[in-house]
Amino acid sequence: MSGAAATRVSSPTRRPPEAARVGALRLSPRLLRPLSALLLLLVAVGLYQGRRAFIRSFFADGEVRVAGAPRGSATDAEIAPVERLRVVLIDGLGAAHAEALPNLSERCAEGVELRVDVGFPTVSLPVQHVLWTGRTQQESGILYRIPALAEPPVDALPRFVSARAVAESHPAIVHSFGFDVAEPPLVAGDPEALPPGWREGFPARAAAAVAGDERLVFVHILRVDEAGHTAGGASPEYAAAAAEADAILGDLVGAGEADAGSTRWLVLADHGHRPDGGHGGPEPAIRVVRACVFGAGTAPASGSTIDATLSDIARLLGGSVGVGPSPGAAGRPWSEVVAGDPAAQLPSPSLGRWIAAALVGLGILAAALVAAGRRLRWAPLAWPTLAYVGVVAGVGWPTLSNPAIYPPVGAAILGAAWPGWIAAVLTLFIARRHLSSVRAAVAVAGGGWALVAGTALLAGVGDGPPLQPIWSAAASTAMILAWPVTAAAAVVAAMPTSASASREPG
Ligand SMILES: [Zn+2]
Repeated sequence: MSGAAATRVSSPTRRPPEAARVGALRLSPRLLRPLSALLLLLVAVGLYQGRRAFIRSFFADGEVRVAGAPRGSATDAEIAPVERLRVVLIDGLGAAHAEALPNLSERCAEGVELRVDVGFPTVSLPVQHVLWTGRTQQESGILYRIPALAEPPVDALPRFVSARAVAESHPAIVHSFGFDVAEPPLVAGDPEALPPGWREGFPARAAAAVAGDERLVFVHILRVDEAGHTAGGASPEYAAAAAEADAILGDLVGAGEADAGSTRWLVLADHGHRPDGGHGGPEPAIRVVRACVFGAGTAPASGSTIDATLSDIARLLGGSVGVGPSPGAAGRPWSEVVAGDPAAQLPSPSLGRWIAAALVGLGILAAALVAAGRRLRWAPLAWPTLAYVGVVAGVGWPTLSNPAIYPPVGAAILGAAWPGWIAAVLTLFIARRHLSSVRAAVAVAGGGWALVAGTALLAGVGDGPPLQPIWSAAASTAMILAWPVTAAAAVVAAMPTSASASREPG
C-alpha cells in the first residue's frame, strides 16, 4: 500500500470486496463481517477446547497389536537360568549420570554393559510394561498409562515365578505386574499414598527383599525421577539423588552377597530427564539408558557396550528364570543381541497420514496464501515462524518430555511465543490496509490453522491416542499458538474494511 494510493479518491461504484467473495449468496458486508467474526471466534474456542481434548487423549490406552499370551519354558540355550534374579530399576536416571556412578560402574565392569532403547513414550509404567512382557508400547497399547493396570498382563514375567517387588514410591507401578508381594500397599483412591516412614525404611526393606528366597526380586528406586521433576536433570539435587541411588545399589548387592554365586543382577533405568526436568519424548538422552547385567553366569563382554532394546532385555530376564518370551514379543535371543544392532522401535506416521497432512495442511496454507494475495504472501507464515522460534528459545523444543506442552492454558508457551504475537498483530494491521477485513483475518490466521491441521494429522489424531515423536508435541504447540491469533483475527473480521483496502483490487 503506497501513500499515493491512500490519497486517491475512491470510486463510489466499486463494490466492497467482501461481497464478491461469497459468490451466489451475495451476502452484504454488513452481514458477512459479523458472521465471519463469529465463525472465527468459534474456531478459536474450538482450537482451545480441541487442544484440551487432544492432550487428554494421550493418556488412553491404544490398540492392542500384539496380544499377550502365557509364556512357556525358556528356549534360548545361551542364557543359563539362575536361582535368583535381582532387578534394580533407578527411575529417571539418564545415561550420562549413570556413567558417573561408582558402584554401578564397578558392577558393569564385572558383567555386560548395555545401551538400552526403552521405546516411546518414555513413561515409567509403560516402560515397565515392556520390561516385564517384552511387548513394546505400540504392541501392547500401554502407551502413556499413569494409573495402575486393573489386571497384570497375562505375559508379565512376575506371574511365572515367585516374585517380590519393593518400590520407594508410586506403588501403582509395582502393583500392576503380578508380583506375589508388592510393597508399599496400593491405597485405592490415593495412588501416591505411602505408609508413615516408608521412604526412610525403604532401603532396608529393599535389602531384606533382595536377601529373601523369591526367585525374582524387583527394587524400584524413584528418588532420581522425583528430583528430576522438581529440580531438573541438570540440577545438583538430581546428581545427589543419583549418588544416593548408587549407594543403595551398593547396599543391595551387599545384601545379596550370601547367595552371590546363584544370583544374577540387572540394573537399569527406564528413561532420563531433560536438563530442566521432564520425560516422555523420544530424545536419545531420555530414551537410551545405561543397563548392566552382572553376577551368576555372566562374564565381562569384550569391553564394548552392547546396544539392545528393552524387549531384548525382557527376553533376557525371562531366560534368566527359565521362562520363555511372550509369544509375538519382539525381543531377540541373546546371541543376536550380542552380535548385532537392534532395529529402531520408534513409531512414525503412516504414508496415508503424510498424504492427508500434506493435502489438508498445505491446502489450508494455500488458501491463506491466496487470501493474502501476491504482495502479502508472508502474512500467513511470518508470525507462526517467529512464534515457534520464540517457543524453542524460551522453553526448549516442544517434545512430549517438555512439561510446557501439557497444561490447559499453555502459559509457558504463550509467554515464550511473544515474537509471534507482535508479528501477528502487525501483520493483521498491515493486511487490513490492503485487504478486506475478512480476507485479512483469514490470510493471517490461516497460517496457524495449516500448522494445526498438518501436525495433528501427523500425530495420528482420530485413530487412537495421538502419540508420535515430534508431531504430538508440535500439534499441542500449534494449537496454543493458533487460538489467540484466530481470536484476534475475529476482531479484525468484525471491523469495517478500511477505506484504503476497499479501493484496491486485492
Ligand atoms: Zn517421571
